[in-house]
Amino acid sequence: MIKESTLQAADAAYRQTIGAGDYWMHVVKRGQALRIVDLEGNQAADTLFYNADDPHERYSACDTIREQGNVYIGAGTRILSDRCRHMLTVIADTVGRHDTLGGACATESNTVRYALEKKCMHACRDSFLLAVAENEQFGLTKRDIAHNINFFMNVPVTPDGKLTFADGMSGPGKYVELRAGMNVIVLISNCPQLNNPCNAYNPTPVEVLIWGEGA
Ligand SMILES: [Zn+2]
Repeated sequence: MIKESTLQAADAAYRQTIGAGDYWMHVVKRGQALRIVDLEGNQAADTLFYNADDPHERYSACDTIREQGNVYIGAGTRILSDRCRHMLTVIADTVGRHDTLGGACATESNTVRYALEKKCMHACRDSFLLAVAENEQFGLTKRDIAHNINFFMNVPVTPDGKLTFADGMSGPGKYVELRAGMNVIVLISNCPQLNNPCNAYNPTPVEVLIWGEGA
């Protein structure tokens, strides 16, 4: 379902571009709205959420999928934690659906999926690990890097239950917008993947905007 936002970019309290292959880690406070914009289209924003007041509580794909009865994320989705508590709600979405199952690229998966010599290429899991290492104030470690959401990524489930990586449904300027139901740490790895045709072998920047007091 396509649902346009009512928020104006000019009113945003915070704007930041995340370069291709970079990460972004930031607290979004309860009540604030976060928009992630796919600036050039067909990018993947691999995203993790943690409770900023108790970071051991985090986004749970299992609970989110089960409670909404849908494997995709879209307008109206309530993103739930591993304690089945409400973390964020998707309040606008111009893409249509987002992936919960494909996971983040890793050097290991690059070798399995593409070629052995891809082992040394930068991957989302590296960005996640770098982010938690460079932001000790959150108290997160390697063990906190669990399953993620792939915003803008199209990973359809086939009729026989398999997963495929398909051409993106996103496009330049499309976005997803979420309102925080608790104070959340948002960790985005703007995917550096160079081997997957879903981004035309060309990772591109995304932009994040936040509306609300204290942003
Ligand atoms: Zn990736």
